[in-house]
Amino acid sequence: MIIAERKPISRILAMIEPYERVAVLGCRGCVAICSAGGDREVEIVSAALRLARKRAGRPLTVVEETLVRQCDPEYLTGLEELAKKVDAVVSLACGVGVNFIADRFPELRIYPGVDTSFYGANPALGEWEEKCRGCGDCILDFTGGLCPIARCAKNLLNGPCGGSQDGKCEIRPEVPCVWHQIYERLKARGELERMMKLFPAKDWRPAGHDGPRVRTREDLKVGN
Ligand code: SF4
Ligand code: SF4
Repeated sequence: MIIAERKPISRILAMIEPYERVAVLGCRGCVAICSAGGDREVEIVSAALRLARKRAGRPLTVVEETLVRQCDPEYLTGLEELAKKVDAVVSLACGVGVNFIADRFPELRIYPGVDTSFYGANPALGEWEEKCRGCGDCILDFTGGLCPIARCAKNLLNGPCGGSQDGKCEIRPEVPCVWHQIYERLKARGELERMMKLFPAKDWRPAGHDGPRVRTREDLKVGN
């Protein structure tokens, strides 16, 4: 899922400083699962904004709303009406949701209430770990299912580097060296020959380095 983290309230307050009526708009997708932007966080952020502005002597009206998803047009139908009631919207969705709404509602002032961080997993309560960078050309078949692009500090395709020490990464020694892990995994499986494949310099275009990526499926389009 997409992992995000709530921005400090002081930062959100600065964004909405000129306004008197705002909506805090949550999303029940990834940001709800990683406890950054679901119903509960909408309540918390709204209460904090109201309190801060009351203390500052400039009371703020906050409308609370959470959509099933902010990145899907079918759930945005009520947004036009909501936009009429407020001066601005603080979205607690990931950057995809904010961009999608900004594209579709050019008149709406929409501000990000969270920092979108990475694609990650949730190994334990309150913990999220990056696992994938969406590079568009997956090589996990060669690396025992462990991603060197997301999990190696240098994004090495041919590792490990010379700095790996006792299975730890030289950049952040508290983090395992993923190339050490890849080596151990392939060795245990008797598949070390997979490490002999030398990857050429990566073509980053499928990762979005030639502009925003678009994917279409003709078979899913309405009318087909
Ligand atoms: S190789 Fe690319 S697609 Fe595969 S897990 Fe890593 S970043 Fe994601
Ligand atoms: S020590 Fe391992 S994980 Fe860290 S930068 Fe070098 S190869 Fe990558």
